Amino acid sequence: MELAWAAVGMAAGTVIGAAMSGTVFRLSVPRGDPPRTRCPACGAPVPRWLPLRCRQCRSRLSTPLAIELATGAVLALLLGRFGGQPDMIALGFLGAVGVSLAAIDISVQRLPDALTLPAYPVLVILLTVAALIEHHAGALVRALAGSLVLASVYLVLAVLRPGQLGGGDIKLAGLAGLALGWLGWPAVVTGAALGFLLSAVVSLGLLAARRITLRSQICFGPFLLAGALIAALAVG
Ligand SMILES: [Zn+2]
Repeated sequence: MELAWAAVGMAAGTVIGAAMSGTVFRLSVPRGDPPRTRCPACGAPVPRWLPLRCRQCRSRLSTPLAIELATGAVLALLLGRFGGQPDMIALGFLGAVGVSLAAIDISVQRLPDALTLPAYPVLVILLTVAALIEHHAGALVRALAGSLVLASVYLVLAVLRPGQLGGGDIKLAGLAGLALGWLGWPAVVTGAALGFLLSAVVSLGLLAARRITLRSQICFGPFLLAGALIAALAVG
């Protein structure tokens, strides 16, 4: 762990998180609804750089510092581990997008295409640049294969157990698979396994605490992303 890089990650993540909080606000809507652009309380337009409170009616628009601190923490971990390497921007990019996706999934149980789909070409380009710098075309091919494998695993599981996993989870798995595949097959396997393990542990805890029932659906995106993050840090 490079402390200097971790500090850079924390600072950059806090700023990026502040910039992303507007996107999280806009996309935290039920499936099929248009992105939110107005204050839910008074209808006043909300600026792109989301303020904490509506400028007109002063009602709260976002949880103070939640996205900022979470993005800062994730980038501190990722840059502390990968700082100075050609792939740090690619991995940091996915980390920042991942925090926003997890926040949206927790609040409205969906992973919007508006965020996952554009992240694919960006991540592929960033990994291609890293592959060119490292003269490592094999890692790029493995990233694409990892994406295909992880998305396929989730697709099969979604077909076998409809209602538990959705299309958003499959697309997110493909995105995480790009980064994990880049880092190697052990990272792909570990990341996938940890996602399911974390989800199972938390579900059992919530069941025991009677916060959910066996019929409840809990969002899977945050577990998939947390599993991928731990795998990247531990075996990447
Ligand atoms: Zn308002």
